[in-house]
Amino acid sequence: MPRPIQAVVHTEALAHNLRRARAAAPDAKVWAVVKANAYGHGIERAYPGLQGADGFALLDLAEAERVRSLGWRGPVLLLEGCFEARDLELCSRLNLWHVVHCDEQIDWLATHKTTWPHRVFLKLNSGMNRLGFTPAAFRAAWMRLSGLTQVDEISLMTHFSDADGDRGIEQQVAVFEAACEGLPGERSLANSAATLRFAPTRPEVRGDWVRPGILSYGSAPDFPARSIADWDLQPTLTLRSRLIGVQLLQPGDTVGYGSTFRADAPLRIGIVACGYADGYPRHCSTGTPVLVDGVRTRMVGRVSMDMITVDLTPLPHAGIGTEVTLWGHGPHGSVLPIDEIAQSAGTVGYELMCALAPRVPVAHDH
Ligand SMILES: *Cc1c(COP(=O)(O)O)cnc(C)c1O
Repeated sequence: MPRPIQAVVHTEALAHNLRRARAAAPDAKVWAVVKANAYGHGIERAYPGLQGADGFALLDLAEAERVRSLGWRGPVLLLEGCFEARDLELCSRLNLWHVVHCDEQIDWLATHKTTWPHRVFLKLNSGMNRLGFTPAAFRAAWMRLSGLTQVDEISLMTHFSDADGDRGIEQQVAVFEAACEGLPGERSLANSAATLRFAPTRPEVRGDWVRPGILSYGSAPDFPARSIADWDLQPTLTLRSRLIGVQLLQPGDTVGYGSTFRADAPLRIGIVACGYADGYPRHCSTGTPVLVDGVRTRMVGRVSMDMITVDLTPLPHAGIGTEVTLWGHGPHGSVLPIDEIAQSAGTVGYELMCALAPRVPVAHDH
């Protein structure tokens, strides 16, 4: 028998979450953001759940090829655009739309030979200060692009730095509106947090396209202020394993490397076949929630490479083979949001999804 750890991608949950994005921005089109191999889910595995989107947005040209290989004929957008001039050949061949965020990318387009002009998304740096033209340079970039025979339609986009937090989006929306005033073209501003928090009430945030990533994968972008239950989102990735050992601790006994946990009373603990080499974060410590047979309990001690240890106090009948849910959907309708594990590790759900280790076999639930 193989080691009992397994990940499961939930197709219906992906479709449900995508519908939540649509409901938040009913008059906008939806990019399903599938960068980073669909946030660790695997593009091919996520595709059946996300194919109701209006387009797929990603960064990597090889991933764009994979989306086309799945038979997707609709829009595909390269969120960082081309990395060098010859990437434009693939854009022409696969009909990829691409972001233009710097003058070099316009230079490459100007010398590109193509039969069909390209659809581009001109990116404004409205305050994030990562990619994009400054407000002062934006119009000149638009004018240059609009003069190229290689360019067909120009859309306008920007990206928020604080849509999930207290600072919010006001300032960036104002900068975007001022920079785009009078320019034609479709608009795209909102990531998951902006889609959930602001798009329902604000048409200028919805624009023509929203770009939800993390919400589609069942993580609340503004956790812990709001949870997936608050946003009616469902986990799309489950990490589960089984108990492979049980120990009965006496008062004073310690657990695991560094002896960071000490029992102060007799305590039954379970050993789970899951460790940091599976992508479970090593920064989690005693108290991190875990489901054993669908019942919530806590991890105790340190995360090892291949094992963690859990408190079996609420589960007197648990033993070798009992199912353990590290995050996602557990037995008997139980749910453990990935956001809670991420919080225990001082990180975000995004990182845990993307860090799922290659040695974990992944199944579909449909
Ligand atoms: C990753 C990304 C998104 C999606 O962000 P989420 O927070 O996962 O919704 C949207 N737009 C751009 C440009 C991105 O890089």
